Amino acid sequence: MVGIGSFEELTVEASDGQKLRFFINGEELEDLSGKKNKSFYLNDHDDDESFYWEISDVEIGKGFHWDRKENQRFKGGLMLKYNEGKILVINYIPIELYLRSVISSEMNAGCSIELLKAHAVISRSWALNQINKVPLTQKPVITDSETITWYDNGVHKLFDVCADDHCQRYQGVTRAVNPNVKAAIEETYGEILVYHNEICDTRFSKCCGGASELFETCWQDNHYDYLEKIDDFSENFTEDLTVEENAVKFIKSSPRAYCNTSDKKLLSKILNSYDNEYSDFYRWKVFYTFEELSEIVKEKSGEDYGKILDLIPLQRGTSGRIFRLKIVGEKRTKIVGKELEIRRLLSKTHLYSSAFTIEKNSDGFFLYGAGWGHGVGLCQIGAAVMAEQGFNYVDILKHYYKGAELLKCYYED
Ligand SMILES: [Zn+2]
Ligand SMILES: [Zn+2]
Repeated sequence: MVGIGSFEELTVEASDGQKLRFFINGEELEDLSGKKNKSFYLNDHDDDESFYWEISDVEIGKGFHWDRKENQRFKGGLMLKYNEGKILVINYIPIELYLRSVISSEMNAGCSIELLKAHAVISRSWALNQINKVPLTQKPVITDSETITWYDNGVHKLFDVCADDHCQRYQGVTRAVNPNVKAAIEETYGEILVYHNEICDTRFSKCCGGASELFETCWQDNHYDYLEKIDDFSENFTEDLTVEENAVKFIKSSPRAYCNTSDKKLLSKILNSYDNEYSDFYRWKVFYTFEELSEIVKEKSGEDYGKILDLIPLQRGTSGRIFRLKIVGEKRTKIVGKELEIRRLLSKTHLYSSAFTIEKNSDGFFLYGAGWGHGVGLCQIGAAVMAEQGFNYVDILKHYYKGAELLKCYYED
């Protein structure tokens, strides 16, 4: 069950020409014929290969820099539910079909088959882990002087996973046309990663920046051995990046790593077009005047810090990502974390990552940063480069998930 989104009103068109509209009426949904109900189920048509449902204006990349709306097509069934004044749309779809869309949405279908196979295994493992997961229960720290919070999955009550980057990008069957994606899923049918008989929580992000991050730096304080720090290269080359001066040196340099590539041709094969608009992710730079930053932090935190005087990293993870940052303002000073909260507070959308170092001059702040995303688990750009260099999907998975093993957990009937 995938949560697609919430709508004020909804238009659904079927591939056979059937057109349906739904509105909110009180605390119920109403269709064009005036039929009212708490929920409507639009049937799947498994017997018809070409059948799909099309929904208009689905929002993707919510709150991120690639935020946009598009029409999307779905296989399987659609559940429409009244939920908090809106129409919640949930797609009921078999996991192997779900994967086709996820892989196509996450990666450009033109990239190498070994990369697509690696992605099929981690997306399948992640989704199964999510469905079977016991919810983690640690509470965020929110006091007057400190906000340490995180945005984990497992928060969805009405469905298993959402369709956005929060879980895995799922955009229906709109893009699932490439035969390579289909082949990658079929060739790895039922394969998942396990560690000591448990399904791995196979996190992944766009670009680690040279070294990978730990789970506990980004979400609650659980340690997973298979998400140990790795250097994104064939030998160990980074120092202990939890030490401030090592992290600064690392971020300000451009060490060799699988994900350190500026090969535009390769990147355009890996990234979907809207990701490809942003290619300076291995090392990046942002400048804010004092006024700009103060305004952004005020808007994003809902708290008035006055003029921001300083940003002080207090703790960094294994990739150099900051997970406790002190924001010093004229009116208030506060410690914030973890990584996504820091990225959210310091940008109109989100900073690429929280692996950054701060330099101040008389006009404002320069942030020099490394990587894109949380950096835990597989690095998508690094994995793509590995595949390009001839590594197969098992090599790639073993590089990013130390000690994890591949297991075929079900077979085609
Ligand atoms: Zn989600
Ligand atoms: Zn990397």
